[in-house]
Amino acid sequence: MSFEYAPAPESRAITNIKPKYGHFIGGKFVAGSKHFPTINPATEEILSQIALAGKSDVDAAVKAARKAYNSTWSKMPGKERGKYLFRIARILQERAREFAVLETLDNGKPIRESRDTDIPLAAAHFFYHAGWADKLEYAGLGSSPKPLGVAGQIIPWNFPLLMLAWKVAPALATGNTVVLKPAESTSLTALLFAEVCQQAELPAGVVNIVTGDGSTGALIVNHPGIDKIAFTGSTEVGKIIARSVAPTKKSVTLELGGKGANIVFEDAAIDETVEGIIDGIFFNQGHVCCAGSRLLLQENIAEEVLHKLKKRMEKIRVGDPMDKNTDVGAINSKEQLAKIVELAKVGDAEGGQRWSPACELPKKGYWFAPTIFTGVTSAHRIAREEIFGPVLSVLTFRTPQEAIEKANNTPFGLSAGIWGEKGSRTLWAAQQLRAGVIWTNSFNKFDPTSPFGGYKESGWGREGGRHGLAAYLKSVSNEKGVM
Ligand code: NAP
Ligand code: MG
Repeated sequence: MSFEYAPAPESRAITNIKPKYGHFIGGKFVAGSKHFPTINPATEEILSQIALAGKSDVDAAVKAARKAYNSTWSKMPGKERGKYLFRIARILQERAREFAVLETLDNGKPIRESRDTDIPLAAAHFFYHAGWADKLEYAGLGSSPKPLGVAGQIIPWNFPLLMLAWKVAPALATGNTVVLKPAESTSLTALLFAEVCQQAELPAGVVNIVTGDGSTGALIVNHPGIDKIAFTGSTEVGKIIARSVAPTKKSVTLELGGKGANIVFEDAAIDETVEGIIDGIFFNQGHVCCAGSRLLLQENIAEEVLHKLKKRMEKIRVGDPMDKNTDVGAINSKEQLAKIVELAKVGDAEGGQRWSPACELPKKGYWFAPTIFTGVTSAHRIAREEIFGPVLSVLTFRTPQEAIEKANNTPFGLSAGIWGEKGSRTLWAAQQLRAGVIWTNSFNKFDPTSPFGGYKESGWGREGGRHGLAAYLKSVSNEKGVM
């Protein structure tokens, strides 16, 4: 007997997308001069026109942030700052459905994920940091840690509102003011967040949002009025930013790419592991910096795991992101799709064996079927480079030592997963792995109390938890702020 899912589309009636947006500077929306379209990648429908910030807009935003820093925010007692963060967190919860629908329309991710992961975690980030605002002297960062000043923040398109929350919440809790630029293809939830700042009556200029492309990002990075740069995005742009700020007094945190190893030992509970592998690579279409994109299977169980993995992949529902049944939505942009297609072709050419379940992809929009490559070695480009799509590279190993060597054989070091019942071995493996976040018998679990960040080319500094506060504070022992 076969069971068919009836469509269960979420309504978009709750959103009110304006035909055109400006920037949010000094507590007000100001008109932009040039505009570019933002689209729904699942349908290619133009949703709105987004303003492209140039030098004068970035100057105005930095000026507003400096004024707010000097006149109110840095002087306000932490207890009072915390009240604003609590207020923002509660409004995000109240308007969660509106945010989830807007995020899914603009980004292409399944509504199930924006509703159950992105938006609740964004609110959780504000709640968590609201709690810190009046307790900073107990954070272990000196008796009287001070804010850095104006923070320039640049975020990517894969978790638009959540990455905003990761940046804005700690900056505000620690008394800094902000100029933030969302990614070109996903500005809408940041602009809705600007409305939330107004609704929370956040003092004007504490949060400024300028939209635009890489050139706007570069204007922020190079602005002399900015004290700290917080960037999440590609390693390539991260390196450009590191070079730009090196001769300046700016402090910097970089959250960059990854090529996470997901290691399965022979004693792993296979069915649960298969769920973890699926979640590790197909969550958010694989547009996840900490994705478990390299699966390392112990050789004697590889066949069984792959058999079960393929059966499970046949059940993945790819399609309309607004449908509550959908597991994998649209690829965020035409450019990203082209990158995934190209790297998958390289996988073929280098001798990997490609497999995807039979699945019908919608005609319009940007789509890529969930894919695995077997027969991959550490030398293959698809084992070394970030694909940032729903593509899993499968490697095998014989001994735990070999698993560690293969897992660490990467320029990145953001995340890793370990599957196995034997606690002594999973703990041993976790100690050997050079990765900032390591999950055992789970994957892609996020919590605002837990620091997140990478080794090597995956970045500098940590976001979240007590460690994340350090990146926005100068203490006696750390005059310039932690990198
Ligand atoms: P990206 O091209 O580096 O873009 C990230 C942000 O930087 C965007 O807002 C982008 O603007 C802006 N930008 C581009 N060029 C710039 C420049 N020269 N100076 C300043 N800003 C510039 O990365 P992406 O392709 O959007 O995002 C995917 C990457 O982000 C992946 O490599 C992924 O691993 C990484 N990522 C890392 C984390 C983490 O926490 N470690 C989290 C999520 C994503 P435009 O959008 O206009 O290009
Ligand atoms: Mg879009």
